[in-house]
Amino acid sequence: MAEEKKSLNFIEQIIKEDLKNGLDNTKLRFRFPPEPNGYLHIGHAASICLNFGLGQTYNAPVNLRFDDTNPTKEEQEYVDAIKKDIKWLGFEWDNELYSSDYFQQLYEWAILLINNGKAYVDDQTSAQIAEQKGTPTQVGTDSPNRNRSVEENLELFEKMKNGDFKEGSHVLRAKISMTANNMLMRDPIIYRILYKKHHRTGNDWNIYPMYDWTHGESDYIEQISHSFCTLEFNPHRELYNWFLKQVYNGDNLKPKQREFARRNLSYTVMSKRKLLQLVEEELVNGWDDPRMPTISGLRRRGYTAKSIRDFSETAGIAKRDNITDIALLEFHIKNELNKTAPRVMAVLDPVKLVITNYPENKEEILIAENNPEDENAGSREVPFSREIYIEREDFREQANKKFFRLKLDKEVRLKNAYIIKANSVVKDESGEITEIQCTYDEDSRSGSGSEASKRKVKGTIHWVSIKHAIKAEVRLYDRLFTDEAPDSHKDKDFKEFINPNSLKIIDNAFVEPSLKTATVGNQFQFQRLGYFNIDNDSTKDNLVFNRTVPLRDSWAKQNK
Ligand code: ATP
Ligand code: MG
Repeated sequence: MAEEKKSLNFIEQIIKEDLKNGLDNTKLRFRFPPEPNGYLHIGHAASICLNFGLGQTYNAPVNLRFDDTNPTKEEQEYVDAIKKDIKWLGFEWDNELYSSDYFQQLYEWAILLINNGKAYVDDQTSAQIAEQKGTPTQVGTDSPNRNRSVEENLELFEKMKNGDFKEGSHVLRAKISMTANNMLMRDPIIYRILYKKHHRTGNDWNIYPMYDWTHGESDYIEQISHSFCTLEFNPHRELYNWFLKQVYNGDNLKPKQREFARRNLSYTVMSKRKLLQLVEEELVNGWDDPRMPTISGLRRRGYTAKSIRDFSETAGIAKRDNITDIALLEFHIKNELNKTAPRVMAVLDPVKLVITNYPENKEEILIAENNPEDENAGSREVPFSREIYIEREDFREQANKKFFRLKLDKEVRLKNAYIIKANSVVKDESGEITEIQCTYDEDSRSGSGSEASKRKVKGTIHWVSIKHAIKAEVRLYDRLFTDEAPDSHKDKDFKEFINPNSLKIIDNAFVEPSLKTATVGNQFQFQRLGYFNIDNDSTKDNLVFNRTVPLRDSWAKQNK
């Protein structure tokens, strides 16, 4: 139970308080209410982990409710993607529900409002309605239609429903107060006319309910005990309660809306509208582009469900808006993959290295540990031969003492293999090194137990045997934006901050032959480089790897 946890977040405090004040714990019920107008992102994961997490903590049902009241933006594709992502994150909903299931009930309640003198049809233009709304410092003025008779309102509303009026010509408004301090209470619109096909109800309806009217009443229909939403809905709470009061029958549970801070992540944007722009303008390759902050993008990038859940837990639920450092998310995936991902060798920027004193046709099978962090991970065979690739940046003809990699006349250890010494280089006309010539210490093989194998040399570098290596494509991702908060600039569009170098494709990387059998989704640590997974685009003949995250740990450093 919640009491046993180290610290209760403020949401759990609210629930605890309600239980103490007599709420029966069998009445606890939560919901996650996505609008199917885009793919879920890491911000939604905060809400998912919160609501489904509460469900687990209190053993209470959690509904998945699609908030589908706007047929202009909603699609079945999004419904399917949202369900897939929630399941993948490891959560199960009690009921799959749709706000559109309640269109009839909402309509009947709208009639009830009219009958009770609490709603009226307004046929002014939207500009007139906006004008009369007033400002936060100035009260609004009444619509000339505010005092229509119940009969006339019923008749006009019926006509709206039947499709007798043009789109935008009439709305139904709640009759609350045009002088309320809270602008949202100044006779808000609850129905508008829309001649759009709905993804579930087809052409059944010509009128669609607005968000505020729908959300609270849907919570009421489902008997949700706690309706958690993001902070910007705080001013809506008064309206939420007003709407509930109009239909409350005195016996049922009255849902409670409470707000928490949106999850923002540095160097990205989170609004679906903006993510949709990136997709539609082909600034990324679809919703699941590995640079996107979507759940599907993160999954493709190599993030695991656990790492996202752990991140959500650590980042926590806040009362005030804030920006979470993306390095915290990276920390969690690295932390997990460090324990689970097999180590392999891959060379991304190859330069040829020849071991001149190694016999020409000799091949050896060396044994390499799969994961020093996991004693059950076992070992694998890595072939070695006279010609290998190393990273171009791991060699310098001359370098100062801090350069622990290979330089002329100095020694370095080849990971899992021998100590080598660089003697000379071959260059092309442009002066670029095309070959490094070395000699090896035959007795120094790692793990052989010999004196020479225990010899300490400063650096260890990775390599692949040229004869045995597999050519591969590697996609290196960087942050999608160069600015920490790309959508916080008033005078600049967020797209101005797109990082032009967010994707670098390497098409002549080489990986060790054990990767021949790797399949989509498999994850590896490329030693000294980072964590990589096999992308969906990968085929047997053309392996494609995504870099999930480099090894370097900026978050741990910052937070030492
Ligand atoms: P967006 O602006 O990205 O479209 P939204 O709030 O309109 O977000 P919905 O599909 O309506 O998206 O959200 C479903 C649920 O997820 C809501 O309860 C919403 O409050 C929550 N949610 C959305 N974005 C975030 C976020 N960044 N952090 C935490 N919760 C979020
Ligand atoms: Mg929304």
